[in-house]
Amino acid sequence: MAYDPNNIFAKILRGEAPCFKVYEDEMTLSFMDVMPQAEGHTLVIPKFPAENLFDLDPDFVAAQAKTTKIVAAAVKRAFDAPGIMIAQLNGPAAGQTVFHFHTHIIPRSAGIDLALHARKLADFDLLKKHAERIKAELAD
Ligand code: 5GP
Repeated sequence: MAYDPNNIFAKILRGEAPCFKVYEDEMTLSFMDVMPQAEGHTLVIPKFPAENLFDLDPDFVAAQAKTTKIVAAAVKRAFDAPGIMIAQLNGPAAGQTVFHFHTHIIPRSAGIDLALHARKLADFDLLKKHAERIKAELAD
């Protein structure tokens, strides 16, 4: 399947669609997932038109990993999360629904089940507050 430049994350990268941004550098962008599976669910995407891991330029694989580590540490602190799940889905058979490569950062706590994947839109005021919490940790 060819990369679709009109997928929602490509639009976010071009500034054609909004997002609750937490971090950005030359090669990556990180923002809140609008249908979070847990409070603090954050995404990291490369500024590279790859549908999945197999299409991603190796330099961007490295940049993606670096940003994921930085943002995951901030999410962990911001939500006082005992655990952080990192997930990355490749292909519809794996459950991928947006076809621009991305990594999920999801806070986990014992006894709190994950919400269903990409089902329920969160309150945007709450997402904005969550983004502010993560940004405050990144600024420290
Ligand atoms: P995937 O299933 O491809 O691994 O994950 C796609 C993720 O993107 C889902 O967790 C879904 O909630 C999230 N998502 C879908 N549309 C949007 C959107 O317009 N904005 C943001 N920020 N997240 C989205």
